Amino acid sequence: MLCKKCGSVVPDGDLVCRPCVARRGWEGIIGQQEVFMAKMLTGELQIRLARSSRAHPFHVALFANPGYAFCEANLRHASLREQSPYTSGLRMGCCAACLEVLDQVLADHRSIEEAKARSHGTQV
Ligand SMILES: [Zn+2]
Ligand SMILES: [Zn+2]
Repeated sequence: MLCKKCGSVVPDGDLVCRPCVARRGWEGIIGQQEVFMAKMLTGELQIRLARSSRAHPFHVALFANPGYAFCEANLRHASLREQSPYTSGLRMGCCAACLEVLDQVLADHRSIEEAKARSHGTQV
């Protein structure tokens, strides 16, 4: 049968669509990163950077799962590691795919903060 959501072929006997389960799992992991954004922006929490050689840009390690990068790269074999406060200059040396996901998380963070500020405003 075909998955109604993504159209993948679900083998007979499988009760769930594996690509959908994997995507939901990954989205959950990315969703967990939002709680770290406030501390990252104040510099209280440094970001972990990893790459396999100097010829490559740095991947940004997930805060909750540092074995993986924001772009889903596996960082277990990345031998060059650094920690640094998050700055706009730092972004220049980072993996574009990582930054794209990080920016989404930051945008989520901003809208959550805005919603909090709004709900405080209506309570007054
Ligand atoms: Zn599916
Ligand atoms: Zn990356």
